[in-house]
Amino acid sequence: MRADLIIVGAGMVGSTLALALEHAGLEIIVVDGSPLNVAPFDTCAPFEPRVSALSMASQRILQRLSAWPGVAARRVCPYGEMQVWDGSGTGSIHFSAASVHADVLGHIVENRVVQDALLERLHDSQIGLLPGARLEQLRHSGDDWLLTLADGRQLRTPLLVAADGANSAVRRLAGCATREWDYLHHAIVTSVRCEQPHRGTAWQRFTDDGPLAFLPLAGSPGEHWCSIVWSTVPTEAERLTALDDVAFCAELGRAFEERLGKVLHADRRLCIPLRQRHAKRYVEPGLALIGDAAHTIHPLAGQGVNLGMLDAAVLAEVLLHARERGERLEQMRVLSRFERRRMPHNLAMMAAMEGFQRLFQADPLALRLLRNVGLDMVDARAEAKALFVRQALGLSGDLPELAKA
Ligand SMILES: Cc1cc2nc3c(=O)[nH]c(=O)nc-3n(C[C@H](O)[C@H](O)[C@H](O)COP(=O)(O)OP(=O)(O)OC[C@H]3O[C@@H](n4cnc5c(N)ncnc54)[C@H](O)[C@@H]3O)c2cc1C
Repeated sequence: MRADLIIVGAGMVGSTLALALEHAGLEIIVVDGSPLNVAPFDTCAPFEPRVSALSMASQRILQRLSAWPGVAARRVCPYGEMQVWDGSGTGSIHFSAASVHADVLGHIVENRVVQDALLERLHDSQIGLLPGARLEQLRHSGDDWLLTLADGRQLRTPLLVAADGANSAVRRLAGCATREWDYLHHAIVTSVRCEQPHRGTAWQRFTDDGPLAFLPLAGSPGEHWCSIVWSTVPTEAERLTALDDVAFCAELGRAFEERLGKVLHADRRLCIPLRQRHAKRYVEPGLALIGDAAHTIHPLAGQGVNLGMLDAAVLAEVLLHARERGERLEQMRVLSRFERRRMPHNLAMMAAMEGFQRLFQADPLALRLLRNVGLDMVDARAEAKALFVRQALGLSGDLPELAKA
């Protein structure tokens, strides 16, 4: 089987790229190791433990690709405020959508919901979808890449896109170098029911061990649900994961200063080791890396999938322009335009998250003082805060057309 473009990975990022190129006149195949089924959505079903804070830019991209109605019809929770504070000091900062005349700062959505809304669109399109297709081998064959799947099937293409996530097989098999380091943090993620309403606010407390986020979820009337991301040192994460439900809820409530009252219930907990990874190059002849295959960052700012969706939208834009000009899409000349537009933006976001994480993990008194004073100073300056808010909305920098209003 041969295609003009093969995308490995039909996750949120790979599916976004495929749909953004739906009308490009290219023969596209998307391969994924999972079954790619879309199950009917049950609004009473427990929340998925993995959620994303989708930025305004990601929402616009999903709207343009007609996938947002599928998200909104399932389960989504808008938030208009963000409250961040230092648990071992007095500094705090408050952001609001109203400060930049926006309706919302973003939406908290279960990853499964975004994924299913995109898959629904993919199943209805002319794009070739190969479910249960795990890539195992990759090599050059003439001008093409030759992909061998776990079941022995072979595929060929002149242009391959790796959207196969943090442990990308494409990246490994193609020998792409990365810079990576352990954050020495694990994230515990789960959904919890609280005593008090979340008030459409994303909450983040920086503890001495790491950030703890309570992200608002759309619970049924009278029930107040949040998704939590509790980043802490591995030994502590293991201890917390092993606690029984009552003890876990009590510790979580204390760690969060019971800002939403007591934590009444916690769903199944996942414990995820956090690693920062960045590919030294996003492109080589006939190959591009996007999303987590190109970069993974600390979840404290909830930006991972937002960066990935912008990668997908920019790569699609670059390929569409090149096609209009009659250029060969697999050429470095073309693919480098994508890298030039996305790498500086992704690196800046990763550096900011790294700085934040170090600042909040630092123990010396001077640094503690600095972060408390710093938070209060930013909080007092409307224009500095608006800058942060625009960053969180994903509306700063070199935006692709799909993310523009
Ligand atoms: C605790 C935590 C909290 C987070 N919170 C947020 C947040 O609030 N906001 C946010 O923006 N981001 C967040 N992120 C990051 C976000 O989850 C990721 O950036 C996002 O899921 C990456 O999407 P992706 O499509 O690139 O990769 P993935 O979602 O990993 O998709 C990869 C796809 O490739 C397929 N695949 C893998 N290997 C193969 C193979 N060999 N052959 C074929 N197919 C293959 C998989 O089946 C999968 O479908 C968080 C991450 C963590 C760990």
